Amino acid sequence: MLFECPVCGREFNRRNNLNIHIKRHEKNRKFSCPVCSHGFVMRAHVLKHLRLVHHIKRSGSLERYK
Ligand SMILES: [Zn+2]
Ligand SMILES: [Zn+2]
Repeated sequence: MLFECPVCGREFNRRNNLNIHIKRHEKNRKFSCPVCSHGFVMRAHVLKHLRLVHHIKRSGSLERYK
């Protein structure tokens, strides 16, 4: 059984290896939520998070967080 990285899709045969790998992604989080400061790897994830968690649909106010 393989464990797939949800960020880049790389596969690992041990869950522990995947966990170590994911921690590396977390260090590289470039985008953060302007509301709760949660970090994300991709800007699209921030927009999705804003929509689902904070119910913010417009992204215009995010421009300054690039
Ligand atoms: Zn990855
Ligand atoms: Zn947030």
